[in-house]
Amino acid sequence: MPVQWDETTDVCVVGSGGAALTAAYTAAANGARTLVLEKTEYFGGTSAYSGSGLWLPGNHILRQAGVEDSVASGLEYFRATVGDRSPAALQEAYVSTAPELVEFLDRDPALEFEFLPFPDYYTAPGHVAGGRGIVPKPLPAAELGDRLAQVRPPISIDQYGVPQDRETLSGGQALVGRLLLALDRTGNATLRTGTRMRSLVVEDGRVAGVEVEHEGRTLFVRAERGVIVAAGGFERNAELRRELQGLPGGDWSSAAPGSNTGDALAAFQALGAAIDLTDEAWWCPAVLFPNGHAAFTLGLRGGIFVNAAGERFANESLPYDQMGHEIRAGHATGVSHLPTWWIFDARFTSTPGITQPAPDPETFQAAGLWRTADTLTGLAELIGVPADVLGKTVTRFNGFAASGVDTDFHRGEAPYDRFFAAGDGPNPALVPIDRAPFHAVQVVLGDLGTKGGARIGTDGQVLGEDGAEIPGVYAIGNSAASVGGHVYSGPGVPLGSGMVFGYRAVTRILA
Ligand code: FAD
Repeated sequence: MPVQWDETTDVCVVGSGGAALTAAYTAAANGARTLVLEKTEYFGGTSAYSGSGLWLPGNHILRQAGVEDSVASGLEYFRATVGDRSPAALQEAYVSTAPELVEFLDRDPALEFEFLPFPDYYTAPGHVAGGRGIVPKPLPAAELGDRLAQVRPPISIDQYGVPQDRETLSGGQALVGRLLLALDRTGNATLRTGTRMRSLVVEDGRVAGVEVEHEGRTLFVRAERGVIVAAGGFERNAELRRELQGLPGGDWSSAAPGSNTGDALAAFQALGAAIDLTDEAWWCPAVLFPNGHAAFTLGLRGGIFVNAAGERFANESLPYDQMGHEIRAGHATGVSHLPTWWIFDARFTSTPGITQPAPDPETFQAAGLWRTADTLTGLAELIGVPADVLGKTVTRFNGFAASGVDTDFHRGEAPYDRFFAAGDGPNPALVPIDRAPFHAVQVVLGDLGTKGGARIGTDGQVLGEDGAEIPGVYAIGNSAASVGGHVYSGPGVPLGSGMVFGYRAVTRILA
């Protein structure tokens, strides 16, 4: 039976994170009727929580900031880090379109960017030690008017109830705010919250629209030019995570509960799309909070991580995704790295790293997530690891701090390790642990979103099992199998790549 459409648009965008809003803006700015459908009560998704670093090599904002970078060196670096785990053509499409995307966005007065000094995550050919990321400039919240109440609040407020100033929006708040502002000003876009894509509707072998749920009703939206799915991954679906990633369910993803539960994945599977990289995520160590959520942690200035055996298992200054992979690898060794304990001493009154929000010692101690003892032996007892092993681990590490050389894990050798390091010894990334009392804080395996989804072509078009395009539908952001494969090459690849493929998808749709 032919579908009875309730509404018709040119381009329908499902989701409202950075990738979605970039696609929507590209469509609306080029005169297409654009409809954005968001499942939750807020626009912005995980993108609104983010720092909004955007890894877009060779763009003019970098040039203006005096950063020596080019598409050629960006591509050399990206290829060297990702390898063949994503198609070469996809990698090239991402990196080579980055400058064009930034030029296009920057033409709109609502969309302003600046350089973000944050190093690439690998020391590979083409890397830029001082960083090649950009961020949206902060935005006075008042410019958003009534829209402000619809922007997903920062993660500190949204998931932890910790107040945060919202008079000036920065990072992901600014990205989402600026894109909404630009989108509204086109006059061609309609945006809806509380509207969930249930499935993709196929007519005559082409995705013609979307079946949605809105206020308890089922509606059918026809998209005459194309449907762009940017509905995140399945990070908030504990069952799928156990099934596809073999991980204890847990509430440890940074995404908002109830947001990215794998609706896109299910819709693509129903369509017969090729699915890839479902075992992957943008991993990170995460401090476990009393409410069961786990907060993204990076930039260690001190302390070591030990596993259930009381041993170090990695260079703690690694970029967060690489440390996440190390924590995950504990499953394979049989020595659990879950929880990991972050051990530090009286030099630090709070956890020596960046966690948003910062853990409050008293509340964490009451919840048993932060333990303190006057001796390392006492601390080992409190956290249930062998005291003799923990003692040896710390003594050995203190030796490395004195010599400046970590012969076990080479901490402090890579430029990234030293970016946050603040120690005053021969190697600033190695700070001894020798002043009582001693602390241990629980760290688990968090993530910034999953990376698996529909395999895509160079314009984000969804591919079938046979490699042929499924007409009418595009996947971007974490709804697509990531161009990053198994690695996280540099700050801003999740958002940067999602935004590029959103731009490319719409450019193709409207061509
Ligand atoms: P999201 O931004 O999560 O958007 C998906 C949206 O789709 C959500 O609003 C969701 O509610 C909606 N949705 C889901 N299902 C449906 C449905 N069925 N129908 C309609 N809507 C639906 N990345 C970077 O690149 N740079 C950074 O600096 C950075 N910093 C970060 C800092 C923090 C603290 C965190 C938590 C993450 C950070 N990340 C960063 C990671 C990045 O934010 C995410 O990976 C990225 O935002 C995912 O974008 P997305 O568009 O795929 O999903």
